[in-house]
Amino acid sequence: MPKFQWFSTVMCLVLLCLNLQAAGPGSGGGGDTINPIAVEPDAVMMAVEEYGFPGIVGWLHGAENKYRRSQDPKNDPYVKLFAGPKTIYDILKTTPVELRFKEPCYDVSGQAKDGSIYAYKSGAICLSPFLMAPKLGETNVKEQTLALVLHEMSHLLGTTEDEAIRIQNDILLDFTHIDFDDFWQKTTRAHNAMMSLLHSIDDHIQNPSKFSSADFTTLVESIASKNEDIETTMRFGGSFSTERFMMMSPQMEDKMEANLCVVTNLNNAVYATDPHQTADMRHSYQEQLDSAFRGQNEITATSYYNNAVCIDAEKNPEFDNLRIRRIDNQSDLLASLQQEEDFLSILWTNMEDYIVGQLQFIELR
Ligand SMILES: [Zn+2]
Repeated sequence: MPKFQWFSTVMCLVLLCLNLQAAGPGSGGGGDTINPIAVEPDAVMMAVEEYGFPGIVGWLHGAENKYRRSQDPKNDPYVKLFAGPKTIYDILKTTPVELRFKEPCYDVSGQAKDGSIYAYKSGAICLSPFLMAPKLGETNVKEQTLALVLHEMSHLLGTTEDEAIRIQNDILLDFTHIDFDDFWQKTTRAHNAMMSLLHSIDDHIQNPSKFSSADFTTLVESIASKNEDIETTMRFGGSFSTERFMMMSPQMEDKMEANLCVVTNLNNAVYATDPHQTADMRHSYQEQLDSAFRGQNEITATSYYNNAVCIDAEKNPEFDNLRIRRIDNQSDLLASLQQEEDFLSILWTNMEDYIVGQLQFIELR
């Protein structure tokens, strides 16, 4: 055999070898996605502990708002979460999450599952960080865990498997598209800022003689701007009807909308007598007040709205429940400031629940 021929035969064998190796033993030409850095089981627990309550509740507030606006609420799968005698908010507060670090959860027929409504502890749902962690990475452990918690909890209100999966997909998509941490930080900042405003209002009410009328004007201006901040922060990740996360329930939001009428009235009253305004401006604020009250001393927010537009024309049951007082002197001003303080205290307490609230969980290691 000539030298050259021998060499090319060896080369062919080598190339053939390389070729076989590239294809891999038993390769069928397909592929699978990979999870490069699987999380530790503890990451599933962290997701439940740190994000579980605010993440799910914040999302549910947005979902409830959408549900309330839906064309056909009776046939909406969310009817089971929001319209029964027990709601998903009750379930979230009272249902512990049993976390199994050494074994799967099991469904009714004994099949191993990532999550289940069957747990050792009665009244709890089951999640298995043991099965879940190898399938999850840092980029999706939080949303996948929360979505599965909500899937299982929704079953406790009677959702079918299809409905539970739809809800699980809905929350998963919103978490994937929206920076929840950003929303969370803004909410916490708004909550902290409210505390100093509450102190300031209270100080003015308790010691009015300490403050000039210019101080009261400044206070009312900061109340108005704070209310605006809260409104902007409250809805996150969408327009009015498509927000994905909300820091307060739709009922609380209705109260907030109605309360803007108190703020507008305070604003008009202090500007109507503010020496820093031009005479024309003072006159125009006074006219707004006169046209709103039409000779009466106290009216509902609905009448205030109808007489002198100060709030959205949205249908809002709270407008009829809220009384707006005419402000003619300092004691009227203090009474209205007290009304604003009462509202902000309720709002602050509501947000506090949301900010420090946690899901209950049990670790089985
Ligand atoms: Zn299910």
